[in-house]
Amino acid sequence: MSQIKNPELILITAGGRIKCRRCTAKSSRTEEQCKRPASKLSKTSKCSRHGGLSTGPKTKEGKDRIRSTHLKHGEETLEAKAERSAKSVMFKYLLDLGNHVGLFYTQLKTRGRPPSGYVRLNLTDPEELALAILKILPNK
Ligand SMILES: [Zn+2]
Repeated sequence: MSQIKNPELILITAGGRIKCRRCTAKSSRTEEQCKRPASKLSKTSKCSRHGGLSTGPKTKEGKDRIRSTHLKHGEETLEAKAERSAKSVMFKYLLDLGNHVGLFYTQLKTRGRPPSGYVRLNLTDPEELALAILKILPNK
């Protein structure tokens, strides 16, 4: 869809009884102007098929309002995801420490990729061992 030169701005329908704005989008195949009426909400004079519908809230207040109306249980909010990820990182460090001191019968591994925020530490180095111990302590 691209802009047409000198588009017809007015569309007369219903046998001349209805006069409205015409969509100004151009067909890329036929190079003709769209024959549908433009959406009343459209600022660029486009129909609903060519991007004339609302594109959603832009301000922070509007986005927060939409977010609050769509919130059902809060299990997939950004805060809940960050908390889950932090717990996964803590568990991964706990597992590394358990493997390092020989707490388990075998070397235990977790499945899949490491959680974001996890950096593999060399636990034979005392500084990095202390860092790993600090990471498994709860923050609260
Ligand atoms: Zn159109």
